[in-house]
Amino acid sequence: MDPLLYRKAWININLAAISANINQLKKQLPNQTAVMAVVKANGYGHGDIQVAQAALAAGASGLAVALLEEAVRLRKAGIKAPILVMGWVAPEFARIAIEYQITLTVFQVSWLETFKQNKIGQPLSIHLKLDTGMGRLGIRSIEELRDFMAHLAQCNINLTGVYTHFATADEPNHDYYYKQSSRFETLINELKQHTTDQMVVHTGNSAAAIQHSNDMLNAVRFGIGMYGLYPSLYLKETQPISLEPALSLHAKLTHVKKVGAGESISYGATYTTEQEEWIGTIPVGYADGIQRGWQGLSVLINGKKMPLIGRICMDQCMVKLDQAYPIGTEVTFIGKQGNEKISMEEIAQHLGTINYEVACLLTNRLPRFYDPSDTEGAGVNF
Ligand SMILES: *Cc1c(COP(=O)(O)O)cnc(C)c1O
Repeated sequence: MDPLLYRKAWININLAAISANINQLKKQLPNQTAVMAVVKANGYGHGDIQVAQAALAAGASGLAVALLEEAVRLRKAGIKAPILVMGWVAPEFARIAIEYQITLTVFQVSWLETFKQNKIGQPLSIHLKLDTGMGRLGIRSIEELRDFMAHLAQCNINLTGVYTHFATADEPNHDYYYKQSSRFETLINELKQHTTDQMVVHTGNSAAAIQHSNDMLNAVRFGIGMYGLYPSLYLKETQPISLEPALSLHAKLTHVKKVGAGESISYGATYTTEQEEWIGTIPVGYADGIQRGWQGLSVLINGKKMPLIGRICMDQCMVKLDQAYPIGTEVTFIGKQGNEKISMEEIAQHLGTINYEVACLLTNRLPRFYDPSDTEGAGVNF
């Protein structure tokens, strides 16, 4: 964490919520189904290392990330649990994966050929990816699978897992999910003809883990739900599981003024006061991930919703206040104040996107605090 924290803007991460969300899911899953905590993209903006440690303490048995870089970062932080990289990693970097005991995702014969040519002494651990309908990465046909397994037999590689990814598990209609499940079963049956290796077989992201808990085989890859966010509005409305958001975002007013009627605020002068109004200035903007599209959303001040007005600037934005407030008054962008709350889902809806994107786009300029006693973004004397 950057020790230079002079600005009054911060994110609180409630790690107890991360644990509670894992426990909620575990209650629903069969005993033999393990939880892999997905901490790619800096833990969906929540902080990869802290979330990984909390998740492992709460009973997750492994971690999954998108990039080899993200996996190495976790290892360098001293994390010993199994880590799966779900994205494609060039075969040239297999040595790094072996050095750090990181499991890679592999599914291409050409990849195996390059790996073999590099003649690495120690074995690499991989999970095989099957593409059952996501259309992103993986083997799609039985012929490809046979060819892959024939090449794999000549490589110094341990096949420790096999998996697929669902495209529609967050929806009320399960037809496509069942189509993917049945293709997976066909490919797995073929795979078993070619290996007797002990493999972790996994298919589910949060949505599948929540909607199809009993089909989840050896493990699930629990991402968005672990952060207390629902994979879709449909699942937020139907609440088959109770999740608690871990992230809240706050700042403090840096300026408060009364402006007369007919005065404009911010770039483009897009907002003009109709009468005398109290206007507050907040020291966060699109460089923090409070995108320009947030204009028109509300923030919480004194337990009440108040609208962000005028264009969001790079480092600041303005709010219409219902009265004068002192400089230093707390403003909540995401989270609760009193009986009011602002969720990532409502922000996402306003932006025409999904909660995943709202969380991932919060930049590292905002410090993250993890100690529950730091409710004021403490550790810092504001
Ligand atoms: C990101 C990702 C996940 C986690 O998905 P959530 O919807 O966040 O639970 C699982 N599997 C793969 C392959 C992913 O890329």
